[in-house]
Amino acid sequence: MSKKLETQVLVIGAGPGGYAAAFRAADLGLQTTLVSDEKKLGGVCLLCGCIPSKALLHTANVINEAREFAAHGVSFGRPKINLDELRAWKDGIIEQLASGIGGLAKQRQVNVVHGKAVFIDSQRVHVEGNKKISQINYQHAILASGSRPVTVPGLELDSPRLMDSTSALALETIPKTLLVVGGGYIGLELGTVYAALGSKVTVVELTDGLLPGVDRDLVRPVHEQAASLFEAIILKTKVEALVETRKGIQVKLGGEVEKQQTFERVLIAVGRRPNSDGIALENTGVKLDRHGFVRVDAQRRTDDPNIFAIGDVAGEPMLAHKAHHEGHVVAEVIAGQNVAYEVVTVPAVVFTDPEIAWCGLTETEASTQGVSIAVGRFPWAASGRARALGSPDGLTKIVFDPQTKRVLGVGIVGRGAGELIAEGVVALEMGALAEDIALSIHPHPTLSETVAGAAQAFLGTVTDILNVKRKTS
Ligand code: NAD
Repeated sequence: MSKKLETQVLVIGAGPGGYAAAFRAADLGLQTTLVSDEKKLGGVCLLCGCIPSKALLHTANVINEAREFAAHGVSFGRPKINLDELRAWKDGIIEQLASGIGGLAKQRQVNVVHGKAVFIDSQRVHVEGNKKISQINYQHAILASGSRPVTVPGLELDSPRLMDSTSALALETIPKTLLVVGGGYIGLELGTVYAALGSKVTVVELTDGLLPGVDRDLVRPVHEQAASLFEAIILKTKVEALVETRKGIQVKLGGEVEKQQTFERVLIAVGRRPNSDGIALENTGVKLDRHGFVRVDAQRRTDDPNIFAIGDVAGEPMLAHKAHHEGHVVAEVIAGQNVAYEVVTVPAVVFTDPEIAWCGLTETEASTQGVSIAVGRFPWAASGRARALGSPDGLTKIVFDPQTKRVLGVGIVGRGAGELIAEGVVALEMGALAEDIALSIHPHPTLSETVAGAAQAFLGTVTDILNVKRKTS
């Protein structure tokens, strides 16, 4: 017989936001229940997002680097790809991490319930798909239901040839030809993976450049590398129709290049939308904004005093590390601590080859907002480590307030940019000035020296590149 559960804290969704919230709540002594509609814990990030894509991007980087080494006198020959073994390796990583999260839940005595939570009212959910537990009554709920890929009206096909990020990461097959619709985060990351595995990849992007919104000097090296790895990059173009034929999907492209081509598979990666529907939020006091995100305040409380929301469902940026941080904040708020989500910046990383990362104010934003800035740049061509790593076209730049010399933003393109950006985040959070970075000794020979170099370039103390502020007579 199915029964009703009582809990102090109910967390809905077991992604990086949900499990962080549940574990922090349990650590603070709150009786916590975590409901997940997936068999494994970890959410999209672990099961079909960040982690499997990074495993496959590592594979892609090894393949690409091995090929590039032929120019330095080391040849490995063409890679032989055993797709079943590659898939099993990727799935093994997911399995290990998911069971690790499951183990941590047990050790913390977080009650994990499998099923779909649907709101009855502000203090009760019905659990669909669970034979033992039908209802959970809670004091506080934390909604961490995430997001899902956007579908394009008119481009829906009931065919395995049409993929979203989840099915692309399942790595069923390596198509001979792949069309990627959308030149954003997912399109470029997964395009890189499939190109390295042997697919001829074409990317179609609606706007006039890859990764719209990101500073163009950071995108340039990524575009150049993508142009060499991909069959084609088609900008300012919309996909107008998809028709399945015996050979694949026939695609009609509109815009400036009106043509028709057939691809073995098509991946749609044109954004994600919040999972705020299908859970009867209308039975609560929760309100949505016009994009479908749950409205929240600085403590991530919704318009319903019993319900909090975090992660992708609670607004941009839809990034795992933002969700994780919000999870801690909300658990602490429920435990009675006087805290709020008050970060200076959420860093962004695109794991392309090379990687792009930024935090704080970008040059593009400064120009559209009319903010006066000064920028220190350190081109990686002058970094010994970058050259040794085969990443000489990287760039590290720091955006400063020209009056106070305070760091306002950091942008990096190059190998390992995603790791290096953390220094920028700490600088921003600590209100660092140019001297704080320029006068901190960075280890040699490392890519981190380029961060110090960018600050020194701004101050006019740099010696590894031409110093534009040098005395000339
Ligand atoms: P995105 O917003 O990054 O990119 C979508 C791209 O598709 C844009 O360039 C847009 O101009 C283009 N586009 C939109 N409609 C189009 C159309 N009809 N035809 C052609 N192009 C079109 O979205 P995404 O790549 O789907 O990723 C979704 C979100 O997931 C990201 O915004 C990010 O929040 C998250 N994500 C993050 C990471 C990471 O942190 N490394 C990786 C993957 C996904």
